[in-house]
Amino acid sequence: MTALREASIDLGAISRNVETIGAAVGSADVMVVVKANGYGHGAVESARAAMAGGATRLGVVDIAEALALRAAGVDAPILAWLHGAAADFGTAVEAGVDLGVSHLAQLDRVAAASGVARVHIKVDSGLGRNGASEAECAELFAAAARHERAGRLRITGFFSHLANAGDAADAAQLERFTRLLAGARSAGLDPETVHLAATAGALRLPAARFDLVRIGVGAYGLSPFDDASSADLGLTPVMRLSGEIVSVKRVPAGTGVSYAHDYVAPRDTTLVLVPLGYADGIPRHASGAGPVSINGRTFAVSGRVAMDQFVVDVGDHPVALGDRAVLFGDPATGVPSATQWADAAGTINYEVVTRIGNRVERRYR
Ligand SMILES: *Cc1c(COP(=O)(O)O)cnc(C)c1O
Repeated sequence: MTALREASIDLGAISRNVETIGAAVGSADVMVVVKANGYGHGAVESARAAMAGGATRLGVVDIAEALALRAAGVDAPILAWLHGAAADFGTAVEAGVDLGVSHLAQLDRVAAASGVARVHIKVDSGLGRNGASEAECAELFAAAARHERAGRLRITGFFSHLANAGDAADAAQLERFTRLLAGARSAGLDPETVHLAATAGALRLPAARFDLVRIGVGAYGLSPFDDASSADLGLTPVMRLSGEIVSVKRVPAGTGVSYAHDYVAPRDTTLVLVPLGYADGIPRHASGAGPVSINGRTFAVSGRVAMDQFVVDVGDHPVALGDRAVLFGDPATGVPSATQWADAAGTINYEVVTRIGNRVERRYR
């Protein structure tokens, strides 16, 4: 039995996607990023499938995510790179979690924590987000070398993140990254793992591959590019989202559908009800537009997406109670893609899969 609301997750596809990307990036190692519950796919299951596909490391955002993986028995190397003032670095070190460090106050707290942390210094090479600014780097590197000599931590990695703002911006970031890395080395640091690229950089910017690429969206089979589909990249979308048809009714022309009657049936027709709404991560901005495949034909959501449900006008297409409405999956199987939902909602495929909520049952294939 399929669940009322189901995200079917193809773990074999994660492994194959990781293998495909691993082959494309040559000698660079692959870290698979399983932050945000594995982009909505399940962190623990995605992590295991990624390792089976040849990943050598896992990436998460915060220490809580890393500890949840450890609690589930995942013993692969894990890097966590965003921390608040209350972050428990001692517990992270004890659990063997590597720490991304972005500024001096953070570095000093990591040094003061119990145990000898493995630290990846994070620099801002031009994204303008997390990471040490160029101006703070000299002081940060000097402090890191001092702490390392005192045996309080080890600097094992050095990294940054790309803005994907175009070729010139990529080149400028690469240049600044390389210069900051040289600065770290002259300060006496010797990070063995240098990394810069996420999925987009890994696939299209060979100079950004260094020792390791950090693959998120590509592992889940989605393309980070506007001009290339999953299939173009040799990747298979992992999540298939569907709901059971829970109501089928014949209505006369002129019937208003859902809040504010943004949709009015243009003729006598059949309306079906799908039990997925914005509480489940279905974007309300895709009202009237999101594609839904039912019994081999693709329709658009009719009217507004509500908190728990939406309606589809299926005309005279045969649909019965208990049939499935597939919102997205692998387009090679004839269903819409997460990217089409993103386009319908004015967002990106990353956001579509990541927001799929807890009421949606994950079923692993
Ligand atoms: C999320 C994230 C990634 C993965 O990015 P994708 O585009 O999904 O491959 C890599 N590095 C950092 C620092 C991230 O925050």
